[in-house]
Amino acid sequence: MKDIDILVSEVGPRDGLQSIAAILPTEIKNAWVRAQADAGFREIEVGSFVPPSILPQMADTAEVVAAALTLTNLNVAVLVPNLRGAEGAIASGAHKISIPFSVSETHSLKNVRRNHQQMFDEVTRIAELVAAQESPPHFEAGLSTAFGCTIEGAVSEDLVVRSAEKLMRCGVAEVGLSDTTGYANPQQVRRLLRKVQSAIGAENITGVHLHNTRGLGLANALAAIEEGITTIDSSLGGIGGCPFAPGASGNIVTEDLVFMLEAMGLNTGIDIDKLLDVRNILRTALPDEPLYGFTPDAGLPKGFRKGEKRND
Ligand code: ZN
Repeated sequence: MKDIDILVSEVGPRDGLQSIAAILPTEIKNAWVRAQADAGFREIEVGSFVPPSILPQMADTAEVVAAALTLTNLNVAVLVPNLRGAEGAIASGAHKISIPFSVSETHSLKNVRRNHQQMFDEVTRIAELVAAQESPPHFEAGLSTAFGCTIEGAVSEDLVVRSAEKLMRCGVAEVGLSDTTGYANPQQVRRLLRKVQSAIGAENITGVHLHNTRGLGLANALAAIEEGITTIDSSLGGIGGCPFAPGASGNIVTEDLVFMLEAMGLNTGIDIDKLLDVRNILRTALPDEPLYGFTPDAGLPKGFRKGEKRND
């Protein structure tokens, strides 16, 4: 990834689609992933290995991974909730596996019915399985509810740091910070990143996963980049939304994030015109689902050149 400054990791096919009731047909998911890879995306989280009884939207993840693996220069990422999911992910050949670890233990119990110790044990088992592979996938833990929890409210920053340290000892390759609830603000992003970086080493935390529930997604992304973060998750059209915040997108909107980065002269490797065209796939396939983003509606500024280094 040396030729780009920031890796924009598209998570719409996972985070976006799992948050809406409509089930996108496999061919359309494949067309979406292909179109976005063609626009220059280097990493796409294409689905999650969860039981179809819980998330029927993700039932075809293995097939989507298989199709994505035929594309060149694409890191194919998936989410797993547990060891069983990790077995499915490894069998699929995905390049990157992420497991969410809820720093709020109440959220963890509610979400995956496991307390922290049980989660650490599960992560250790997955790390051992990963390490036993001939070509092991990259195994990462995302610290969800790191910036606050809808059940517990404020989440202890010390607990975030201790959880990050413990997860590294359990054998993950790196950890990321997730603002699952859209509670984060830029000052908090800076402070927490610095704490985690100094505890586990900046090389072991390169990505953040942000939601735009309260409109601070891009501000938080910029704060993270200024603290050295090089991978930002986002979702095409911000699909998924937030049931508690009408009008708010789910993840930060990929189109607006890419526009901000390229306008700042940070190279993403992404062709923004091609990216804006990919929206048509979602608009056609999910006509009832709102698509978010300011850049797609307003258009690119007159004379805009992507990746142009400016001195102004
Ligand atoms: Zn998310």
